[in-house]
Amino acid sequence: MPNPLASLLLDAGRQDPDKVFLRIPQGETWTYADLDRVSAQMAHALLALGVLPGDRVAVQTGKSPTVLALHVACVRAGAVYLPMNTAYTEREVTDLIDDAQPSLIVSDEPPSRDVPHTTLDELARSAQSRSASFDDVARQGSDPAAILYTSGTTGRPKGAVMSHANLVFSARTLADAWGFTSADVLLHSLPLFHTHGLFVAAYCSITTGGSMVMLDSFHPDLVVDALPSSTVMMGVPTHYTRLLAHPAFTSEVAKGVRLFASGSAPMLVATHEEVTRVTGSTILERYGMTETCMLTSNPLNGARKPGTVGPPLPGVQVRLVDGTPGSVEVTGPNVFEGYWRRPELQSTEFTPDGWFKTGDLGRFDEDGYLEIVGRSKDLVITGGLNVYPKEVESVLDALPGVLESAVVGLPDPDFGEAVTAAVVATSGSTLDPEELRRLAREHLAAFKVPKRIHVLPALPRNAMGKVEKARLRETLQPSGR
Ligand code: AMP
Repeated sequence: MPNPLASLLLDAGRQDPDKVFLRIPQGETWTYADLDRVSAQMAHALLALGVLPGDRVAVQTGKSPTVLALHVACVRAGAVYLPMNTAYTEREVTDLIDDAQPSLIVSDEPPSRDVPHTTLDELARSAQSRSASFDDVARQGSDPAAILYTSGTTGRPKGAVMSHANLVFSARTLADAWGFTSADVLLHSLPLFHTHGLFVAAYCSITTGGSMVMLDSFHPDLVVDALPSSTVMMGVPTHYTRLLAHPAFTSEVAKGVRLFASGSAPMLVATHEEVTRVTGSTILERYGMTETCMLTSNPLNGARKPGTVGPPLPGVQVRLVDGTPGSVEVTGPNVFEGYWRRPELQSTEFTPDGWFKTGDLGRFDEDGYLEIVGRSKDLVITGGLNVYPKEVESVLDALPGVLESAVVGLPDPDFGEAVTAAVVATSGSTLDPEELRRLAREHLAAFKVPKRIHVLPALPRNAMGKVEKARLRETLQPSGR
């Protein structure tokens, strides 16, 4: 029976069933035969629990090979996989359940709503006695395969519905663009509930029959230990800054790594250059989002430019509208068709000709490489003039003693919004906000210079290393306004 995504996830492994699919350092090792068998048994177990094709299966668990097998089982059973961030509180989980109406929840704790529930262990145990072969439920390309709730949502959650066709196209495109083969060993230290860890990292490996070294989470000591036996590492920018602070991150441990990739948040040019200096490898930075999978990538062969996310991937179209920098709009077989049961968002989130509005601002350089300038909602309008936070952040980051910075607009009676910065000092440095303002003035027009600079011990970041500007605004907003 045709099931486009199940075929993609199983075919490569079936060429060499005894090949290592996944290894946990000092832990278990799974072959591709194990993945095939356990996912078939779990698909039977899902059916036995009453899961029907098209039903949502919500999953909130730690990272493990078993949860990857559960993902594949959902795909095989024709169910819609709904991974949830492990950091979500009971209230957030309840909101998602109310929105997605799953027919099964797999999580450690029983949910507050009356929905069938099991733990991953119970499901895996009950699956063990079931048949190791399963007739994959037929699906069309347009059928939903997963719903991912977008990170940093405020108000009612929005579930991005990813179809079989979206995920198949994305996996093929990325594996091809980044030269994945069955000889690759991917160092996997990203969460599995986010598109980066699941549909980018894990899919590149599974769909080409490669092996993965799986770490529970990003831990610099464990990453440095695993690097010598890996050929590819995918991370978020903070992973690389943390590695750079580790004395054992050297060209020697990195010498077998053919590709270091980064995405999910902007990488500082300084970090990019430092990784090259330390390892001799140039990071490949790419850009995408939950709703669209990956959109652009620096090339595997050819110039990888720090501060850019490369040209559009094959088959993906990216355009900029409304000036320079412009709003980034995209279309392609990787781009989702809409949010779960939110028809009213079609007209606000898509253009009349069907392109998705990413909410990012960017510009193309002379070689067609995209530079992401920030989120349009983070644009600061001060005294009627536009200030792009990234421009100010780049200036602040380059000042002596500044490790990193984030710029937001805060309400101001005179200017509408006041450019406001948070800076973090490098270890051992003391920062004087007035001196930073004076130095910034040498590089920026007066209206772009932050009216206030706050020195913080760290910037608020989410699980993917993105600076949470909404939280930062709350922290910086002086009381009484
Ligand atoms: P998410 O849906 O959680 O993956 O977040 C997607 C957003 O992350 C994008 O809309 C961008 O704002 C940001 N993003 C992803 N990759 C990059 C990158 N390489 N550089 C700058 N921003 C990025």
